[in-house]
Amino acid sequence: MTLKAVKTRIYPNSQQRAKIIANFGYCRFVWNQLLAMQKQRYANGGRYVNEFDMNYLIKALKQEFTFLKAAESTSLLHVSRDLHHAYQKFFKEHQGFPKFKSRKFPKQSYQCNSVNHNIQVISANRLKLPKLGNLRFKCGQVISGNITNVTIRLSATGKFYAILLVDTEIEKLPKVTSKVGIDMGIADLVITSDGVKYPTIRFDKALAKKKHYWEKRLARRRRQAQKEIAWDQHNKVIEPRELSDFKNYLKAKRMVAKYNERIANQRNNYLHHLSKQLIAQYDVIKIEDLKTKNLLKNHKLARAIANQSWRTLRSQLEYKCAWYGKQLVTVNPRKTSQICSNCGYDDDKHTLDIREWTCPHCGISHDRDINAAKNILSA
Ligand SMILES: [Zn+2]
Repeated sequence: MTLKAVKTRIYPNSQQRAKIIANFGYCRFVWNQLLAMQKQRYANGGRYVNEFDMNYLIKALKQEFTFLKAAESTSLLHVSRDLHHAYQKFFKEHQGFPKFKSRKFPKQSYQCNSVNHNIQVISANRLKLPKLGNLRFKCGQVISGNITNVTIRLSATGKFYAILLVDTEIEKLPKVTSKVGIDMGIADLVITSDGVKYPTIRFDKALAKKKHYWEKRLARRRRQAQKEIAWDQHNKVIEPRELSDFKNYLKAKRMVAKYNERIANQRNNYLHHLSKQLIAQYDVIKIEDLKTKNLLKNHKLARAIANQSWRTLRSQLEYKCAWYGKQLVTVNPRKTSQICSNCGYDDDKHTLDIREWTCPHCGISHDRDINAAKNILSA
């Protein structure tokens, strides 16, 4: 059995919407209370309180703040778990310190567990969720298997989603006894040792233009609003305005989020399509360890986008290989772009502008990237 996350769009009615938004608030409240407590303890010289003990504190919070009794109870336990993970990341991986959460953050979510079958697909378009009951949903695939938990999320564009964690049996893909090495590049996202090049995602230009249009407006409207807020403060207005009081600003923010979401969807669809195709075609996929790629740190936008796409593609290949019974091998080859994949001759360093070269030893001509992919395959 494999755990699989299935993203579905949900359409809560106004009552259900109010309940979801209230629950975001309860979770945020508990998060902020627990975080404030941890900080206070630390300031007083106390030790970090672990997840288990934080769960006790949640009980105490429920006694003190009775409105928390309306919360979906397992969702509050996820809050202590998430905070614990955030602290672990801070302690062990030196990531940023956990932050307080704000009502104004455009994306909100909470997670709850299935208890007594309270998360269920009732029919092709109805879903049962904890505390919310029956609501309409849409999903591109048939959901089969046991649902163990759900994340309910509100996107920056105001859409509601339920991400179901399903324990399911995945049919392995037939074996095709073929191997491939893939190199990841910038102009071409993926180059295979079979000589196939998959171009980097070309975003819809119209979409990028519209996004840029709204980004400019957003920046201008933010500046304007901040000026007016400063004026209010300077003149000691009784109820000074906040950024969220500026409707034009909020609209621009929503529009930028909308285009970001569409562009992200395009990218994800492309990468899913690509990883699925590679997995159907090959049994063993060899890729270069991305850590070596990351050494080539560069602040150019093209590189940043490529980095992001590589990471996503790599993680998709990882879990899809596991699902479908294929094998992903990471290799750490050296000099992939300078060694002849035909005879092994080392032609010394090739600068980035050299796209093609001929091996002086065996006379074969190489496409730089395809040669590299072949070296990855044989590494
Ligand atoms: Zn050669």
